[in-house]
Amino acid sequence: MIPINHPRRESLLIRERLVDGVKEGYVALQGLMAHGRGECFDYLIGEVTIDEALNAERAAVAALLLARNPVISVNGNTAALVPRDIVELAELVNAKVEVNLFYRTREREELIARVLRENGAKEVLGVGDDASCVIPELFSERRRVSCRGIYVADVVLVPLEDGDRTEALRRMGKTVIAIDLNPLSRTARAASITIVDNVVRAIPNMVKMARELRAKPREELEEIVRGFNNDENLRRVLMHISRRLMELAQRGVLLEFPKDSKTA
Ligand code: ATP
Ligand code: MG
Repeated sequence: MIPINHPRRESLLIRERLVDGVKEGYVALQGLMAHGRGECFDYLIGEVTIDEALNAERAAVAALLLARNPVISVNGNTAALVPRDIVELAELVNAKVEVNLFYRTREREELIARVLRENGAKEVLGVGDDASCVIPELFSERRRVSCRGIYVADVVLVPLEDGDRTEALRRMGKTVIAIDLNPLSRTARAASITIVDNVVRAIPNMVKMARELRAKPREELEEIVRGFNNDENLRRVLMHISRRLMELAQRGVLLEFPKDSKTA
């Protein structure tokens, strides 16, 4: 039980969801390490959605709405953290949902598909024999994708994707949208649109944006995508972090305590 007044309750509850996912067998142990890495960068960013993230999220939603064949890729962490919002986003932008695992086992594929179906997904690709196409240049189980999904997609949203696979998808000519709190990861640097935000904030934001943007004319969506520059946006993210750390370094970060508790 996490105390109701614990100052980091929200963050601890999120960790519990991943731990539950491990116990239920669909979050990989490595997913816990990936999450810890994400938390570290979230501290540096300030645990909020910064303007640069909002810009990328908006461009991403516009790109998904414009796509002929959009696919949202789902791994264990994403299924544990934002299953309902993923399904809702997929419906709003008319995207397919595909289970896409770095550590692929039949059991985890099926468990994740079940989580998604319990959250309203009608069809889930990438399970069992459905994942029979391969991403060129990759090896092992992680190259397998659905022939009806990621393999033929023009735009792929990959929350928490591995860098190597992001690069391979780009080489296949796809528009790759990544959500990654680490602006320096290979994933962040290889994606076409990089959203530096926590998936627990990014996906709900994108659901709201999709509700608004789906009513807009194509030209307006094209304008949003054209106006987005990933290189510039990522550099602004780094500037945000640098500026924030400089300000904190100047102001100080110590928590305050009553004078009498001081030992010095
Ligand atoms: P890369 O292979 O891209 O260079 P990596 O090996 O560190 O980076 P992976 O393990 O492949 O990364 O993927 C995990 C990534 O997901 C990390 O960069 C981490 O910052 C990010 N991440 C983890 N949890 C979240 C989250 N909740 N929201 C957004 N990003 C997250
Ligand atoms: Mg990696």
